[in-house]
Amino acid sequence: IDPIDPSPLKAFLKELHSQYKLLGEGAVAKYIPELAKVNPDLFSICIVTVDGQVYKVGDYEQFFTIQSISKVFAYGLALEDHGLDYVLTRVGVEPTGDAFNAIVLDEQSKRPYNPMVNAGAIATTSLIKGSGPTERLNRMLDMFRRYIGRDVFVDISVFTSERSTGHRNRAMAHLMLNFGMIDRNIEESLDLYFQQCAVMVNCQDLAVMAATLANRGINPITKEQAVDKRYIKDILSVMYTCGMYNFAGEWAYKIGIPAKSGICGGIIAVVPNKMGIGVFSPLLDVRGNSVRGVKVCEELSQRLGLHLFDCS
Ligand code: GLU
Repeated sequence: IDPIDPSPLKAFLKELHSQYKLLGEGAVAKYIPELAKVNPDLFSICIVTVDGQVYKVGDYEQFFTIQSISKVFAYGLALEDHGLDYVLTRVGVEPTGDAFNAIVLDEQSKRPYNPMVNAGAIATTSLIKGSGPTERLNRMLDMFRRYIGRDVFVDISVFTSERSTGHRNRAMAHLMLNFGMIDRNIEESLDLYFQQCAVMVNCQDLAVMAATLANRGINPITKEQAVDKRYIKDILSVMYTCGMYNFAGEWAYKIGIPAKSGICGGIIAVVPNKMGIGVFSPLLDVRGNSVRGVKVCEELSQRLGLHLFDCS
C-alpha cells in the first residue's frame, strides 16, 4: 500500500493495476477492422461512488468506443419510450448461453432472447423514438450525455468500419424483419445501432455511467436524472443475468454484481446504492470479455465484499 496515498481504495486500485498489467493474455477484437488497431497495453480502473467520489488509475482518459456496453443504456431508453410491457413483446429477458452474435431467436415467440445479445440489442435500438435518423441519433446521444455528464461523439471511422463489414448484424435484422419483430426501416435502425456502439467514452465515463445506475438513475457528479428510476431494476436484472456474454452465469455466481462488457475491452459493474466500477483493457478472452477486467472485478468483489448475496 502506497504510504503517501491517503485513500486505501486508491492504493488498492494501484496495487491491482500494477499486478494485472503484467498479465498479457488474450487478444484484441478484430472483427471490426478499426478496433484491431487499439494498443493492447492500455489498462485503467475507475470507481465512482454514489456520493460522487472518483478513484482512478492507469489510462483512464484514453478514449475508445463503447460497443456492447451501450446496450444497457439503449435498453433503458427503449423502456422509457414504450414501457416494459411493450418492450417485452419485442425482446425477451432470457439468458442464452450462446455467443453474443448468434443468429438465433426464441422458437415460440420469435423474439430475440435478451437485450444484451446483438439480435436483442438491434431490436431494442429499433424501438428508440424519433421522427427520423437525426432526431433518433440526437435522442440517443443526449441520453449518453446525461449518464456521462458531458457531450458525447460518435467515432466515425469505427462506425463506418462496422457499417461496411457488419453483415452478420444485418442478417439478424433481416431475420427479425421477416418475423415482424422490427418494423422500422432496418437500415436506419442498423445505422443507429452501429452509431450507438461507436460512441466514444473513457474508463472514467464508464464508472460514472455505472455509478448513475447504482444511484437510482441520478448521475452522482452532475445530479442529473439520466433514466427514470422505475426502470433501474429492469436494467440491472438483465445485466445480472445476461451482461457478460456466455460467462454471465459464472460471473453472477463468483462476482455477484450486475455488469456488462464490450468487445472494446471495457466492463461496467454496478454495486447498487454504493458505486460504479469501470475497467478498460482491450485484451479479450474467447468469450469477448476483457481478461484483466474480469480479474480486477473478481478481486474487487472479493476484497471489498461486493457479491450481492454475500452474508459472511
Ligand atoms: N458493435 C459490436 C457488434 O454489434 C458490439 C459487439 C460487442 O461489444 O459485443 O457486433
